Amino acid sequence: MRYQLRHRLLVIPTLASALWLCQPAAADDTELHDYAALAVDLLDDAISRETVAGAGNVPAYAASLEQVFLAAGFPKEHVTVIPHGETASLIVRYLGDGSSGRKGILLASHMDVVPADPKDWERHPFELQADETFYFGRGVLDNKFDVSLLTTLFVWLKADGFIPNRDLIIAFTGDEESYQATVDMLTRDHRALIDAEFALVVDGGGGALDDDGRGFQYQVGFAEKTYATFSMTARNQGGHSSMPRPDNAIFDIAHAIRRLEAHQFAVESNEITRTYFARTAPFLDNDVGAAMARFAINPRDPSAIARLSAQPEYVGTLGTTCIPTMLKAGHAENALPRSATATVNCRIFPGNKVADVMRELQQVAANPALEWAVVGKPVASDTSPYNVELMDAVDASLSQLYPGVPVIPKMISGTTDGAYFRAAGIPSYSLTGIFLNPADSFAHGLNERVRKDSIEESLIFWRSMIAELAAGEGL
Ligand SMILES: [Zn+2]
Repeated sequence: MRYQLRHRLLVIPTLASALWLCQPAAADDTELHDYAALAVDLLDDAISRETVAGAGNVPAYAASLEQVFLAAGFPKEHVTVIPHGETASLIVRYLGDGSSGRKGILLASHMDVVPADPKDWERHPFELQADETFYFGRGVLDNKFDVSLLTTLFVWLKADGFIPNRDLIIAFTGDEESYQATVDMLTRDHRALIDAEFALVVDGGGGALDDDGRGFQYQVGFAEKTYATFSMTARNQGGHSSMPRPDNAIFDIAHAIRRLEAHQFAVESNEITRTYFARTAPFLDNDVGAAMARFAINPRDPSAIARLSAQPEYVGTLGTTCIPTMLKAGHAENALPRSATATVNCRIFPGNKVADVMRELQQVAANPALEWAVVGKPVASDTSPYNVELMDAVDASLSQLYPGVPVIPKMISGTTDGAYFRAAGIPSYSLTGIFLNPADSFAHGLNERVRKDSIEESLIFWRSMIAELAAGEGL
């Protein structure tokens, strides 16, 4: 399939520069270099904006990107900035000719970043800096790289006169790293602007390089565990610590925690996690890999479950996990505590309801006097269906960069904007054109970096993806 698609691109070059899609490494490809330079300029501007939660810098960033799209020829009615408190979203519609008869494709990234303290960094986090191999700065990986990349992609396709066979819609959100209120608002109040057959969340996923720079694995996120936090509180009438009674709020919470410690949530699997284990197993030449292979065939295999459950990096793929993360109790060292509260953080396997998990925890704690509450507003989402067309497009696009690299569907343990799109009924897949050695991944951390080569590679990847998914037979 991969080679057929590639061949189709070779023989029907309607796009002005379709030819380079098949020869990305050609040194004389000035057009690719020119647009890569635009992407670097956009990234440079983006990194200089400290778009952390509360700083109020996202609207100006959105406004500057809006100008880029308008200058590229996108009509004003298709470029929409939606303010939200101190932040904002930017929606851009690339109008298709509708010849596919299909709904559009949503391409989503986020303009905000997690905080970075210049004192802790080797280079200033809010200046784009570079060495031979990498760009450095807060957001060069997560997620201003892909904001700059998608912007460049739209500008380039527009300059080519390209008309997709379905609408392409960019959604840049403004608070993915904090409250996710912008994506929440988009899915609730602006559905017509962002409605799509599916969303590609260009944030996370992507390729892994080995120490010799060879691509060995590429991940696409199909599902996310639901992040949910509960508090359980024991209350007591209190009193003087010189006159203890057998009932005590701290004892009550301690007993409940011991019971949670002993509890096992049901082992669960779905097509995505079984495929993930089946395709990851060959990379691990040890008993963990063997356990993955057995689990993929029989997800009830007790020894496989036991082996994988013992691995912190894989236990979360086997089902829901809940763990106490914070304690708060008492008010004076010489007083009987009037209350004790444990915070329990859960990562819920797709398909389970937050309320059901809380009920299970309540049953495990087995103390009806405990008070329970959900902290924050968890968003539960199901697994996106396996999408053969998308995975074929990924295969075809990767074949031009890292031929033969295995594509592995993944369930993500964190939460991205994709959870909101899924919850709103828009299947969502996380992927990016970035390949990185896992040892060089510093997203959210110090000295965040991205390979310079990722710019041209990602432009090639995304142009090919659009050709596969939205160019129709005319390309
Ligand atoms: Zn991100």
